[in-house]
Amino acid sequence: MYNEIDLHKININSNPPTEEPSRQYYFMAKCRGWVKDFEEQNGRTPTACVTTFGCQMNARDSEKLLGILEAIGFSPTDSEQADFVIYNTCTVRDNANQRVYGRLGVLKRYKKANPRMKVALCGCMMQETTVIEKLKKSYSFIDLIFGTHNIYKFAELLCTSFETERMLIDIWKDTDKIVEDLPVERKYPYKSGINIMFGCNNFCSYCIVPYVRGRERSREPGEIIREIERLVAEGVVEVMLLGQNVNSYGKNLDKPITFAELLREVEKIEGLKRIRFMTSHPKDLSEELIEVIKQSKKICRHLHLPLQSGSTRILERMNRRYTKEQYIELAERIRREIPDMAITTDIIVGFPGETEEDLEETLDVVRKVKYDNAFTFIYSKRTGTPAAAMADQVPEEQVKRGFDRLLKLVQDTAREQVAKYQGQVMEALIEEVAEERQSDDSAVPLVTGRLSNNTIVHVPGDASLIGKIVPVSLDECHGFYYIGHCVLDKKDAE
Ligand code: SF4
Repeated sequence: MYNEIDLHKININSNPPTEEPSRQYYFMAKCRGWVKDFEEQNGRTPTACVTTFGCQMNARDSEKLLGILEAIGFSPTDSEQADFVIYNTCTVRDNANQRVYGRLGVLKRYKKANPRMKVALCGCMMQETTVIEKLKKSYSFIDLIFGTHNIYKFAELLCTSFETERMLIDIWKDTDKIVEDLPVERKYPYKSGINIMFGCNNFCSYCIVPYVRGRERSREPGEIIREIERLVAEGVVEVMLLGQNVNSYGKNLDKPITFAELLREVEKIEGLKRIRFMTSHPKDLSEELIEVIKQSKKICRHLHLPLQSGSTRILERMNRRYTKEQYIELAERIRREIPDMAITTDIIVGFPGETEEDLEETLDVVRKVKYDNAFTFIYSKRTGTPAAAMADQVPEEQVKRGFDRLLKLVQDTAREQVAKYQGQVMEALIEEVAEERQSDDSAVPLVTGRLSNNTIVHVPGDASLIGKIVPVSLDECHGFYYIGHCVLDKKDAE
């Protein structure tokens, strides 16, 4: 277990171990030499900044990167004018790539001002060969580039990068390796994301994830349970189990177990109050999973169920493997079995070949399922995906029109759904001090909480409430969030 390792005791004059994670502990200890030199020469500790782009799985990986940097001796900073800056990148849509290129221009200036500065890039965008060629050609100031499959090797790569002036690139095509017990620096003391599996085998025709995150591989259930027990001991009350498609969890394990079975085990952990998970693919969300959620006292009443399109014809072209009818039937079954379940979704507008009629189908599903919220995207062509090669790209004007209609309907439906809770008392996990105030001229500070169904509520209170689960009365609905107040006890309020 990492927190039992004393890096000072590691003999860095011997050969590095071959076994992981001890090999990475060895290189963490070795990197400390660079930090010590830096401190002697500069009379201060070097700073490090980890910038995360993209999804919660990336955010969890970034907590590992920061944990390793701290173990080496860097002091963390949010400023990119640091001695070491690493971007953990995303490539799910083209604008994610453009954002990184834009920000690299600024880093180049910082490095000009601080030539000892080290710059590194990792994550999904680095798995694209065209990107690597562009970085080599136009961004030669970058010191280290690695991908999604060898993130655990960060300390070893950093060590090599400290010893060379040239750009170090280490991109793997795929891996079956999962390395546990690396240091982690968590962003929130009271909640944590848990990557339960990596990769995706679904190959939706518009999606680049299977090409950059590789084949599905699940972590051993025992490792996941051990990690959550450790987190609960450190004060965590809520976990978010993460995977591209959690329904496929456990399929590649020597002793396969289902995601529902894993949830049953997680539910047993003393002190854990709330369990969330993301993302569940509609094609294989099982009866067993619905039953486990229904019986659970800890699994939150929020399910993210990406639709992507409501047209069966487009769903086929997307390779989503369910029809409009099957999706609606599934959503209605979930609402019937678990009436207080909030359902959110992802929808793409403008997929190649999409007609006005196809969009009508999508709007029809939104009306029928009545989502509590939806993330709507305009189709983004990703080189290397089957959809990128499809001829009938949709005219921009039509996409824009469709997107605006969808957004309006989704927002109207979501407002209706959220307004249903008006006047109820529900439990909220208080997450942060709110920027908002009760009213502009009111001095009453507010804190922000999240209900089990993922709805946001602001209530009077101070930072001492952060990390606590408290009953709150939902007094005023403000569209997608509430203003309310804490009630001493749910029962008193009833
Ligand atoms: S399920 Fe489809 S959309 Fe989701 S990550 Fe896998 S390929 Fe991409």
